[in-house]
Amino acid sequence: MSEGKHLNAQELRGTLTVRAPMHRHTSWRAGGVAAGLYQPVDLADLQVFMHKLPQDAPLYVVGLGSNLLVRDGGLRGTVLLMHAALNEMRLEAGGMIYAQAGIPGAKLARYAAKHDLRGGEFFAGIPGTVGGMLAMNAGCYGGETWNVVQRVQTMDRQGVLHERMPEEYEIAYRHVKRKVEHADIPGELFVGAWLKLQPGDGETSRQEIRELLGKRIATQPLNMPNAGSVFRNPPGDHAARLIESCGLKGKTIGGAQVSLKHANFIVNLGEATAKDIESLIFEVQAEVKQKTGVELHPEVRIVGEA
Ligand SMILES: Cc1cc2nc3c(=O)[nH]c(=O)nc-3n(C[C@H](O)[C@H](O)[C@H](O)COP(=O)(O)OP(=O)(O)OC[C@H]3O[C@@H](n4cnc5c(N)ncnc54)[C@H](O)[C@@H]3O)c2cc1C
Repeated sequence: MSEGKHLNAQELRGTLTVRAPMHRHTSWRAGGVAAGLYQPVDLADLQVFMHKLPQDAPLYVVGLGSNLLVRDGGLRGTVLLMHAALNEMRLEAGGMIYAQAGIPGAKLARYAAKHDLRGGEFFAGIPGTVGGMLAMNAGCYGGETWNVVQRVQTMDRQGVLHERMPEEYEIAYRHVKRKVEHADIPGELFVGAWLKLQPGDGETSRQEIRELLGKRIATQPLNMPNAGSVFRNPPGDHAARLIESCGLKGKTIGGAQVSLKHANFIVNLGEATAKDIESLIFEVQAEVKQKTGVELHPEVRIVGEA
């Protein structure tokens, strides 16, 4: 029996929600409804789901939604929710960590420290999943996800697993793209990664993590819904510095506000719509361009129907 037939015969074990409000799955706590949302129970279940889903059905992968704005008109296709689904993690020979795509950055950082491995402390500051960090090449305080990736595990739209090396991707600042991807062939999802860290000392790593989190609490508006840095830093400068220099801190549209604490963050004051947030993104972009000549590009992913 071919793998395809085998997968077709299996029952789905995960949870399918029809009309899923995406404000529940994004850190901005705003946005519309997804036509469907599937949360697999494990890798095998995800394989069955992917195999059964028609190849051309729109699919959107979400981890912790910490870099995501879903417009108020929602998403027509199915959201695949990886957080709390693919959450296996293990230590392999040679100090290699295998972490599945749904594992949160903080858990990964703590796991590495527990096993006296250093170089993964920065993951503690990123409130996303391994899958989201791979897709974004997330990083902070000098660390970057793909710097510690030995290889990744991916799944294609037929549910077939692959192992791929970093050389197979174009990797840059907050940018990752498979070199041979074609616009007409839906891309593969990240389902796991093997991370190569250095031998270290757990207590030193835990101390570094505590310091890093302390810095974040002091400089970021973590008590309000946000999606981290809204804009990518332009070469040789900081988006926050440019936004602040234009006097935009505190600028408000509806329920969305340029954070008073960190100018590259937009916070939801409580009742922000995705439109409020997106309009504020455009306003900031336009004013910074007009006053400084620098064009800021969003780092956050904006998806869905207006
Ligand atoms: C308070 C705060 C601080 C932050 N600080 C930082 C920081 O210091 N550095 C930084 O880089 N980012 C930071 N971020 C942004 C965000 O946490 C990262 O971009 C993170 O990597 C997103 O992970 P996620 O699981 O939430 O992805 P999501 O927001 O759910 O998705 C982001 C993108 O990745 C894609 N994606 C998600 N999972 C997969 C997968 N398994 N396979 C393929 N594609 C996938 C999605 O389709 C989407 O395009 C911050 C966010 C917040 C809220």
